[in-house]
Amino acid sequence: MTRILLATTLLLMSACSTTVEDEPMASSADKPSHHRSDGGFRNPLGQRSSNGLGSFLKARFFDEPWASFDADKHSIPTASPALADATSQDNATVTWVGHATVLIQHQGINVLTDPVFSDYASPVQWAGPKRVTKPALSLNELPPIHAVVISHDHYDHLDVASIKALGNEPMYYVPLGIGPWLIDRGIDSSRIVERDWWQSSTLTIDGRSVEFTATPAQHFSGRGLSDGNSRLWASWGLAWSDFTAWFGGDTGYNDSQFVEIGERLGPIDFAVIPIGAYRPRWFMKVVHVDPAEAVLIHQDIGAAQSMGIHWGAFILSAEEADEPPRALAEAMAQSNLPAERFDVYAVGETRHLATRRPEPATN
Ligand code: ZN
Ligand code: ZN
Repeated sequence: MTRILLATTLLLMSACSTTVEDEPMASSADKPSHHRSDGGFRNPLGQRSSNGLGSFLKARFFDEPWASFDADKHSIPTASPALADATSQDNATVTWVGHATVLIQHQGINVLTDPVFSDYASPVQWAGPKRVTKPALSLNELPPIHAVVISHDHYDHLDVASIKALGNEPMYYVPLGIGPWLIDRGIDSSRIVERDWWQSSTLTIDGRSVEFTATPAQHFSGRGLSDGNSRLWASWGLAWSDFTAWFGGDTGYNDSQFVEIGERLGPIDFAVIPIGAYRPRWFMKVVHVDPAEAVLIHQDIGAAQSMGIHWGAFILSAEEADEPPRALAEAMAQSNLPAERFDVYAVGETRHLATRRPEPATN
């Protein structure tokens, strides 16, 4: 019984499976609508971010039980990374390390999103969702990381061992409330930029700059049983002079937040959009898009090019491990969009993306 209780607790605390309390009353008029009156956060459109413990247990174990991974049956392609030369200027270089960890290199500035290199997306490294594919790069194989972008505090996005290993080398761009968490893990406050939605900060290295802007997402947060929605969740815009990327983090769909992001941040050259952990829909829909909704985000923000993440590493839901890319291709076809505009990378694959470099002047 103790083992069952422990296992249940760990599952509740793991990754995106955490349930949280309902949001208290509406925030006061002098605060943004995603701020709760008690200092926590909520989805401003009124979406409930929790279905409660009973619903979680029903979804997790009985309704559509979480999928299991079978290496003989599920195909998750892998590739060897081909990182950018430090002086490479012509293209933006993107490498999928795995799950939500993406390395974006441009103009000599290396940005890593949601670094998770541990075996488990869990409070402990012996139980909970275990990786089914290794990170394409080890922490030792990373190039110098100038900036780390964090979307939210769930275990499959914010990992203690990875943060400690990265240490004080990068600048950390994080949503409100994650700063103190980083400081408790040894990160110096001077390396942390904490932002509310629509607040920006510019990092300049050797005369080249990228502006980081925290943008909305429809999600929730929490790492334990008592910190639900106490730290903000966000997506992020990364704007170089000739290349704007958007990192979606972890999000459900609505028809207003992403339209606004496209209007305020665009043109967006490249978007990183979650496509996995979506079944059962009645349980996941508020907090995780399915591939068809990911395509709506791709369209709403007006991305020239998108990649699908949040699949292929941790089993967090009921769909088959290799279903998200197939469903994404089907959704693109149904929307009459070219498949190559929004697809998936092999784990470890590097692609070189076109930038908006102006044409040379002609006489
Ligand atoms: Zn997640
Ligand atoms: Zn999450």
